[in-house]
Amino acid sequence: MDVDTIYALGTPVPSRAHPGAISVIRLSGPRAAEALIFLTERLAFERGHSARDPALPEPRRMVVRSLYDPTSGETIDRGLAVWFEAPNSETGEAMAELHLHGGRAVVAGALDAIARLGFCRMAEPGEFTRRAFENGKLDLTKAEAIADLVAAETDQQRRQALQQMDGALYRLYEDWRTLGLRTLAHLEAAIDFPDEDLPAGIADEVHDGITRLQGEITAHLEDRRGERLREGLHIAIIGPPNAGKSSLLNLLARRDAAIVSETAGTTRDVIEVHLDLGGWPVVLADTAGLRDSSDAIEQEGVRRARARAASADLRLLVLDATGDWRSERGKLTAGTERWDDARDIVVVNKTDRAPVDAADVASVSALSGDGLPALLARIERAAEALMQESGAPPLTRARHREALIECQESLARALTASEIALAAEDVRLVMRALGRITGTVRIDELLDIIFRDFCIGK
Ligand code: GDP
Repeated sequence: MDVDTIYALGTPVPSRAHPGAISVIRLSGPRAAEALIFLTERLAFERGHSARDPALPEPRRMVVRSLYDPTSGETIDRGLAVWFEAPNSETGEAMAELHLHGGRAVVAGALDAIARLGFCRMAEPGEFTRRAFENGKLDLTKAEAIADLVAAETDQQRRQALQQMDGALYRLYEDWRTLGLRTLAHLEAAIDFPDEDLPAGIADEVHDGITRLQGEITAHLEDRRGERLREGLHIAIIGPPNAGKSSLLNLLARRDAAIVSETAGTTRDVIEVHLDLGGWPVVLADTAGLRDSSDAIEQEGVRRARARAASADLRLLVLDATGDWRSERGKLTAGTERWDDARDIVVVNKTDRAPVDAADVASVSALSGDGLPALLARIERAAEALMQESGAPPLTRARHREALIECQESLARALTASEIALAAEDVRLVMRALGRITGTVRIDELLDIIFRDFCIGK
């Protein structure tokens, strides 16, 4: 099968406002060597051959090269070139990299020059990584980790992506596949024996294997750290109208993301702000004021606020220091689903107007910013407690979760199967589901979906 030689700009597209110091263009595929020669040896393309011997730089060694227009021979830029021989490259194919000046005209000229060679095409999003996968350089969990690493906005997200890129998840799922394979071998052996000759211990081995898998997968599914870290820890700001929820959100976000208003009950929908608190990605949601109302829209807002509070990882209950906040606190914490005194945080606001002296609450003034550092420290501590390391690599994607839930269903069926052959079939389904996560079992539509989310040039 003919494989295309692909190319793409690996660095951001330079704009007039943001030209880069350098830009990197990568080529991968069987004709990458030819492309590199034609681009860096003046008029070799016109001649149809190279005059220099050897025309290719030593593999994996950066060399200074001029980049030429293949037809006119005009110099486009002078930069660095690297050459990687297959299979010792990121994609596993022959690859070339051009490190050029990051100007708009340079990059446009270089991309145009490559296009005019006529035998290279622009890469699709994620195509380099996909080729690395196809060539056995990485499994799907590592490929997904690369996408996560590129998307990481906080230190903790970066750490998690790096751990996964190093194969932590891959090893976990492969271990389970090995255990599944061993269990399957026992089952298949048992199928070959008539009942009375069944070697002692096989039934126990099978039972132990299946229950161990069930236990480990259950623990993994219950561990929400990975998804929290990828998507952000959800914090809901709740409280009565006018307590200063929007003002607090604005202060935390240091930008005008929520409407601050003097009229009670204006924040009717849920407003989200993404923050980095001490390396933890946080999605802070301002919700409608919790109060009884006859207004239909406001009732809907309150319903959403309650739902949001219940599904959040952490709740901030904001109360007004100038009112009877102690009795409101009792009433509202009791009425909030999943409220946890040990974890969720009571914020008493407007201390500029009424000082608050209570150790178990965070007292702040959203107006002056007083008490904000202490509140942030509290949120950070709560986030840390929620994300505490357990040593095992956490589940990071809904795609993996779905496959693992399938595993659990098959395992449960295998345990109660009426015939050994049926149990074996169920264990085979477990292996397939695990294989889909890592890509050992390949499904083309799935690959299309996964790699479509990558950026071009990755
Ligand atoms: P929400 O309904 O809970 O979102 O409350 P808002 O953030 O809209 O604030 C209600 C009113 O209280 C507005 O007039 C704010 O300016 C005012 N406010 C908010 N925080 C403070 C504060 O710390 N001190 C004082 N004095 N006023 C505040």
